[in-house]
Amino acid sequence: MPDQTPRFNQPLSGLEVPRFAGIATFMRLPHVPLNKARDLDIGFVGVPFDGGTTNRPGPRHAPRQMRDMSAFIRKVNPATRIEPYDLVNVADLGDCPVNPADVKDSLKRIERFFSRLVAKHIRPISAGGDHLVSYPILKALGRERPLGMVHFDAHTDLFEGYFGGFRLTHGTPFRRAIEDGVLDPKRVVQIGIRGSMYDYDDRDYAASVGVRIIDIEEFARLGVEATMKIAREVVGAGPTYVSFDIDGLDPAYAPGTGTPEIGGFTNREAMFMLRQLDGLDIVGADVVEVSPPFDPSGLTALNGVTLMWELLCVMAKKIAAGR
Ligand code: MN
Ligand code: MN
Repeated sequence: MPDQTPRFNQPLSGLEVPRFAGIATFMRLPHVPLNKARDLDIGFVGVPFDGGTTNRPGPRHAPRQMRDMSAFIRKVNPATRIEPYDLVNVADLGDCPVNPADVKDSLKRIERFFSRLVAKHIRPISAGGDHLVSYPILKALGRERPLGMVHFDAHTDLFEGYFGGFRLTHGTPFRRAIEDGVLDPKRVVQIGIRGSMYDYDDRDYAASVGVRIIDIEEFARLGVEATMKIAREVVGAGPTYVSFDIDGLDPAYAPGTGTPEIGGFTNREAMFMLRQLDGLDIVGADVVEVSPPFDPSGLTALNGVTLMWELLCVMAKKIAAGR
């Protein structure tokens, strides 16, 4: 008889324990505290921090709700024929430590936690948190060499500062990461940018450092395939981070977020775009800005965590191909 014991962690099957039952973890995987993590390829992490929000708050509650909604997701991706849990070892690493009363202390805690993942060669797929959490994650992942990034969002998050020059908000993370040399602006592409603006500060900065912006008008002209062809060319074969702000989706699909902008992606377009990341060297990814207090149906969290699943599939395929 062949050995039926799976090599890697498997999600709890809904055929054995109903999917509404049990303790919620990302994708119903085992919860493994980081200090006990061994031989993991990918770790799901919650970053329950929203001290960088400048408008409606709430993403501190997202990791819990996204774990809950992840129970809807099964283990086979029939569109791409990827079965990630046969390819790589994945676990839920729990939530990253944060200090809800102190932005700078939280950034230090987040960077320290993700540095420990880097030391263990675990690639994170994180649930924010507001978009400021991507900054300390990029600092941890990009310390050895600057990263490229595929960034889906209604906003560039490239502003200089808010409220008299305060430089650490969810509108500034990627400007800080470029200044710190952990993000290579010439390998950054931002997709879905739209909405009214205060001024052109972020666009001028993007142009000055070479960030490629595919705004929603250009996306609408190009479509999914041509957009993602450009995105793959911009980031190339080098190490790449993927950041998905849920407000990149149209508020019809993702009403539960702090800074909604009309005219965004459908959730189908978002799924199809992430599948086109196939083959890229994705060293980490996040889905941020899901705000459960504005998401009574849980639909925004379901969209967010389903995008985390699509990211898992492309990352697992690439890691397994490289072994
Ligand atoms: Mn946004
Ligand atoms: Mn954002």
